[in-house]
Amino acid sequence: VAVDLYEVLERAVDRIGPTASERGIRIVIPPRDPVQVWAEPDMLLQVFLNLLANAIHYSPPQSTIRVTWDVLVDRIKVHVQDNGIGIPQESLDRVFERFYRVHKDRSRASGGTGLGLAIVKHIISSLGGEVGVESEEGKGSDFWFTLSRLDRPVSARSR
Ligand code: ATP
Ligand code: MG
Repeated sequence: VAVDLYEVLERAVDRIGPTASERGIRIVIPPRDPVQVWAEPDMLLQVFLNLLANAIHYSPPQSTIRVTWDVLVDRIKVHVQDNGIGIPQESLDRVFERFYRVHKDRSRASGGTGLGLAIVKHIISSLGGEVGVESEEGKGSDFWFTLSRLDRPVSARSR
């Protein structure tokens, strides 16, 4: 179904905001920008919650998390970026696997099971999109996913 990406992001931020504030972490989202994507609202909410929970969990206090998106011709690419501990290059291909955890001590302390990203990948794949991550240890991570857009660019619409 058609889902307003911005509305779902706002719901996710409302829900997880208190967890971020507790650690002085700021979540920055784009100015209101309605974009219709092909998804299920609850699934998309889960994707945002899992990515934001990780960004919060693997970032130092007082840091900033940014959600942005690029509107492409028929897709949208959403980024959730943090300035956290990052992920070593050799683990990057594995973080979306079930039960795979890079930072085991931290994850154990908080009862992490290593399923959050596997769920993200499963949901996005089922919606026909792709997921990925770029990261640098000690600098931060950029988790992204794509979804199909249902509205068309202004230039295409006016033709
Ligand atoms: P949970 O099932 O509670 O989500 P988890 O957070 O450990 O547990 P995933 O969300 O699947 O599991 O993430 C897998 C691993 O990838 C994490 O254990 C962590 O090592 C690494 N990771 C995920 N997101 C980030 C991030 N934003 N920054 C650094 N490392 C991350
Ligand atoms: Mg997680």
